[in-house]
Amino acid sequence: MKNNCIFCAIGAGEIPSFKIYEDELVLAYLDINPFSFGHTLVIPKEHSRGILDTSDEMLGEIIKRVKKVASHIKKTLPCDGFNILQNNGEAAGQSVHHIHFHIIPRMNGDELAFHNSPGDMAELDKLAKKLAIKN
Ligand code: 5GP
Ligand code: ZN
Repeated sequence: MKNNCIFCAIGAGEIPSFKIYEDELVLAYLDINPFSFGHTLVIPKEHSRGILDTSDEMLGEIIKRVKKVASHIKKTLPCDGFNILQNNGEAAGQSVHHIHFHIIPRMNGDELAFHNSPGDMAELDKLAKKLAIKN
């Protein structure tokens, strides 16, 4: 595994993911320990640790894709709103040191606690197929 980085391996297709969107620069896929139904991660395929290590140009490209995927999720799922979350450093809760943006779908009054718990793999597979964006 390049850099010993799991998200590099997912981005390169060496480790499978519940893919929603892919192009030359980014991959978007369901989080396997979702905070909410449809919790999605958007990563650049190129490795960098966090926002301070990522070029302005790349950040601009990533955020356009985050918007595209979030917009699609909002239209496709029951979803009243969503959080975009991007953690930098362990103190901030970053557990995977490859920059990623969380898209966390929300429902009115859901009182979501931002705790991970393992998702049901069959359900995630079904959901990824429903959310898949064709280029
Ligand atoms: P962080 O806490 O670093 O901002 O978020 C890392 C996220 O990556 C967590 O929500 C965790 O559930 C998710 N995650 C960790 N390993 C994998 C994996 O192998 N596949 C997927 N799809 N998500 C992962
Ligand atoms: Zn990486």
